[in-house]
Amino acid sequence: ESKRQGKGRYTTFRPELAQLARERLDLENDLRNALAQKELFLLYQPIHDITGTHITGFEALMRWRHPVRGVVSPLEFIPIAENSGLILEIGAWALVEACREASRWPSDQRISVNLSPAQFGRQGLVDEVAHALEVTGLLPSRLELEITESTLLDASQRNIDILHQLKRLGVRIVLDDFGTGYSSLHYLRSFPFDRLKIDQSFIREMCDSREALAIVRAVTGMGKSLEMEVTAEGVERPEQMALLQQEGCSHLQGFLLGRPGPAADIVSETANTLESTPPPAPR
Ligand code: C2E
Ligand code: MG
Ligand code: MG
Ligand code: MG
Repeated sequence: ESKRQGKGRYTTFRPELAQLARERLDLENDLRNALAQKELFLLYQPIHDITGTHITGFEALMRWRHPVRGVVSPLEFIPIAENSGLILEIGAWALVEACREASRWPSDQRISVNLSPAQFGRQGLVDEVAHALEVTGLLPSRLELEITESTLLDASQRNIDILHQLKRLGVRIVLDDFGTGYSSLHYLRSFPFDRLKIDQSFIREMCDSREALAIVRAVTGMGKSLEMEVTAEGVERPEQMALLQQEGCSHLQGFLLGRPGPAADIVSETANTLESTPPPAPR
């Protein structure tokens, strides 16, 4: 890390950094056993249509129930999994697990799975996805793979080829956290994404910042003309939802509409049109 920062920023000894490094190493060691110990699990957050009345699918979000620390956020352990290479095994597990879960849902419900750059960089991702579909029997068109701009990095021909191979399987490709990386527009030209997810930082600010609103508007317009769906991520307030409806966004995801929750709740949640859904059975 410190090398990449360049300019010798960390030349002086900083005890708190050593402490951090130690904690990271501990976590990495624990993470090695997490899969076998069944400490990893997926939560599912609903993605709604723009009216907020229909759920169109769910995003699988990983959690780690650490025996001592309790539930660890993916923001903390996914980077460790990536640096240690553990993400390959963990990511393969998540893919099959999410597809298996989704295969039990009503057939109009999609499942979105996040892919790490490391998974993308490895040979055999396409086979891995094909395998997950095969063993779970999930219809390929119901699976969405979320990648970030950093996954594509240089939009190299190899990466573009892999995306096309994935698309030929029949799965959908989503550009996640759109607007936070570099050369976004270049990616849009290089590859036909099925969906863009506007990063939540823009949604958070769009009611107060003209700049954020302008970006939301531009992305929505671009999505429309490129025939891509546009999902707003991190919708927390009714004012944001109203503004997104006005801007012509196509889907909504956020705490206002639903938090990530356990798979067990989903079949009842999706007995579709929410208005006509009977009250959930007592648990
Ligand atoms: P992401 O893919 O952009 O996922 C959206 C994140 O925003 C999730 O955080 C979700 O819980 C959170 N979120 C959704 N709605 C709201 C809202 O209204 N307000 C706020 N404040 N947050 C909201 P989470 O679950 O902590 O995941 C964080 C990141 O970790 C994900 O960002 C993704 O990059 C990564 N991640 C999670 N699960 C996986 C996984 O299975 N594989 C990989 N490779 N990465 C994962
Ligand atoms: Mg995502
Ligand atoms: Mg995102
Ligand atoms: Mg994110």
